[in-house]
Amino acid sequence: MNPQEQRLEYPLGERLPPPGASLEVAPGLRWVRMGLPFALDHINLWLLRDRLDGREGWTLVDCGIANDATRQAWEQVFDRELEGLPVLRVIVTHMHPDHIGLAHWLTERWGCRLWISATDYNAARLGSLRAGGHGGDSAAAFFASHGLTDPLSVERVRQRGNYYASMVPRVPEQFRRLMHDQVLRIGGRDWRCIAGYGHAPEHISLYTEDGGPLLIAGDMLLPRISTNVSVFDLEPEGNPLPLYLASIQGLCSLHEDTLVLPSHGRPFLGLHERVRQLQAHHAERLHEVMQACSSAPRSAADLLGVMFKRPLDLHQTTFAMGEALAHLHALWFEGRLERRLGEDGVWRFANA
Ligand SMILES: [Zn+2]
Repeated sequence: MNPQEQRLEYPLGERLPPPGASLEVAPGLRWVRMGLPFALDHINLWLLRDRLDGREGWTLVDCGIANDATRQAWEQVFDRELEGLPVLRVIVTHMHPDHIGLAHWLTERWGCRLWISATDYNAARLGSLRAGGHGGDSAAAFFASHGLTDPLSVERVRQRGNYYASMVPRVPEQFRRLMHDQVLRIGGRDWRCIAGYGHAPEHISLYTEDGGPLLIAGDMLLPRISTNVSVFDLEPEGNPLPLYLASIQGLCSLHEDTLVLPSHGRPFLGLHERVRQLQAHHAERLHEVMQACSSAPRSAADLLGVMFKRPLDLHQTTFAMGEALAHLHALWFEGRLERRLGEDGVWRFANA
């Protein structure tokens, strides 16, 4: 556990839900943990006892990735954990593959509706189309324009054109729209939707104070790792970092004693402390970037060695490029850096 993490409290201790089973974290709210084939090797999903349109059953929050292992784990959960009741609806916090991957399978299997923000729904539909989805030539050209020019990396990014679609092959054809401040009645509790920006197009977290404050945080607030905040080729002049920082600042209006249920890591207490830690983390990163750009103009690729002190594989490099750009763009939009396109076609940022 790193020193920052020690300032958070984990009320469930070391307990984790066993594969294919669940662990109750509050009355009528159960934690399920599914594997992921990445360095980040698991995702947390939530089962909420519910009653909808006169039927008793369960609401699921998030789905896991679309692969056979996750489908099998869900079947075990259905057999053991639902008290013989059906799934009534599937809420998805945002469009990333580990969250929405199995939404199509789950809603079809149970004949129920997907609930999600319209922005993330449309982004997922677009990304799941094989042609013109995320990545491919456009991503390779974008990274090259920010200094990732070595031919091997460019070629590998280009070949990954169907990366999102390979993990999210289908998205349900209909959905029910979630919006900020909307209140959902789930199993005797009123849950308020909180839109968050900077990580996904329109991420929805769920907050309740009924029976003690709880936040289903999705990826907006994680205990151990910082939430990915990246600029992508689809929106080359995006400025997601201020959006993310404003969103987590907003979470500070929630109760200090909120039990935070994150999508990765363990449920924790210390919401305000964790927001402060992340604010400090990004302030430090912005400072590093500002310093690096004050000695010479730098591209995003130039900053990887400054910001990330460990060797990165291709997957991590693309994430790191996005993160480096998020910090560069925050400073550029603030007017502290300016950017110039070099004769080599690479954008470099320098003190304004
Ligand atoms: Zn995410």
